[in-house]
Amino acid sequence: MERSTGAGTHEQATVEPPGPRPRSLRAVVFDADGVLIDSAGVHAAAWKRAFDACLRALADRDSPQGRPFDDGDEYRRLVDGRSRVEGARSFLTSRGLYLPLGAPDDPPGCDTVWAVAARKDQMFVAALRERPVRVFPEVPETLHALRRAGVACAAASASRHAGELLAASRVAELLDAVVDGTEVARLGLPSKPDPALFLETARRLAAPPSASALVEDAAVGVEAARRGGFALVIGVNRAGGRAGADRLRACGADTVVENLTGLPGRIRRGSGP
Ligand SMILES: [Mg+2]
Repeated sequence: MERSTGAGTHEQATVEPPGPRPRSLRAVVFDADGVLIDSAGVHAAAWKRAFDACLRALADRDSPQGRPFDDGDEYRRLVDGRSRVEGARSFLTSRGLYLPLGAPDDPPGCDTVWAVAARKDQMFVAALRERPVRVFPEVPETLHALRRAGVACAAASASRHAGELLAASRVAELLDAVVDGTEVARLGLPSKPDPALFLETARRLAAPPSASALVEDAAVGVEAARRGGFALVIGVNRAGGRAGADRLRACGADTVVENLTGLPGRIRRGSGP
């Protein structure tokens, strides 16, 4: 769903982070779930339904190994931001459950890691039918303002549903490129915290990471952005609270915000490369 953008001809813009020196930027890459669209809770609930069914089948419910999935802390630490199969493997491994990997076309179930991932996807799709995902209210104006400032914008997501959800919510038309889980699979990109997805997205904007900002709500995504050499890493802590902000800073966020409202206000056209 990449579109020709002319991003390579954008003049550089300057972002003023809380730090002492403004930085020259040409592009902003946004994570999708939890940053642009209010879908992180739907993902977490779908994982809980999938994992809890499998925990009941695979472990003693009264043992630490078999306790229900925590869709707050365990979701954030072990699943959020990762590809579907990596999220499943990460959580199961944390409980000492080592299933065969299986294959991407395994049907929903509990026999393989791919089957657990497929069960989660089944739950997620069912949830979307019941309740459409909404866009965070400040997002359209934020993207309009960045584009008016000459800054290219893109979404990067490990989720195969992200492109579809961004299109349905009309956010995609405000973006210069969208790279979602379908593209990740096609290109064989590794899961976060590897920065490959973000680097590929910046490449499509013709902007090097050293001239780009990355906006993420997951700790593993912040770490990926840091590893990728992005000039400015903005953590999004929509739930508020110090613990969430500290977690994102500990992974390398330069600054943490609770929504995107202030982002365009920190950007002005600059002249330097
Ligand atoms: Mg996210």
